[in-house]
Amino acid sequence: MHAITRSGWIEVISGSMFSGKTEELIRRLRRSEIADQSVAAFTPAIDDRYGETTIGSHNGRQWAAAVVDNEGEGPREILDRYDGEAVVAVDEANFFSNALVDVCSELADRGARVIVSGTDQTFRGEPFEPLPQLMAVAEYVDKLQAICTQCGEPATRNQRLIEGEPAHVDDPTILVGAEESYEARCRNCHTLLTGERPDGRPAGDD
Ligand code: ZN
Repeated sequence: MHAITRSGWIEVISGSMFSGKTEELIRRLRRSEIADQSVAAFTPAIDDRYGETTIGSHNGRQWAAAVVDNEGEGPREILDRYDGEAVVAVDEANFFSNALVDVCSELADRGARVIVSGTDQTFRGEPFEPLPQLMAVAEYVDKLQAICTQCGEPATRNQRLIEGEPAHVDDPTILVGAEESYEARCRNCHTLLTGERPDGRPAGDD
């Protein structure tokens, strides 16, 4: 990454699940740390997490992060906590409300290098806010691919599975408390159930 001015800027790391977004985020943070730059990292308050937690959980690649309310105006807490750090990292940005877009822009205006990581598509393969807006206002965007679990081609999509079956197109974008899993898949192998929705699914209002 190259700073093009003396102002701050926004970098977005996006792509499907299992594409190494968080790994890339932590790689950039480590390089900043080596250069003695101060870092503030934030992650959304999903899964009832509060206080401090860590970004990343695989292979010891972790970074301490503050948990921030992800809904409504909650992301503005990042501005309250910002203390002039050179680098601000936001992981799992897709769980934040669109308020994150203004927050990142304001941080960059204040001179911070803002690095945002998150998936850019819902399980339906549709744009997943706020990533599309963040990608539009960012100076730098990297879109990473995973490998399709079905055919081995580059994967850009998040295949949601519920009890082993593809999710229904009318299922809510964010399912809380459901038995679900995800696979990275390519455009060809990505599937959605259509037609009548199976009984007993928690209904969403999105
Ligand atoms: Zn495939």
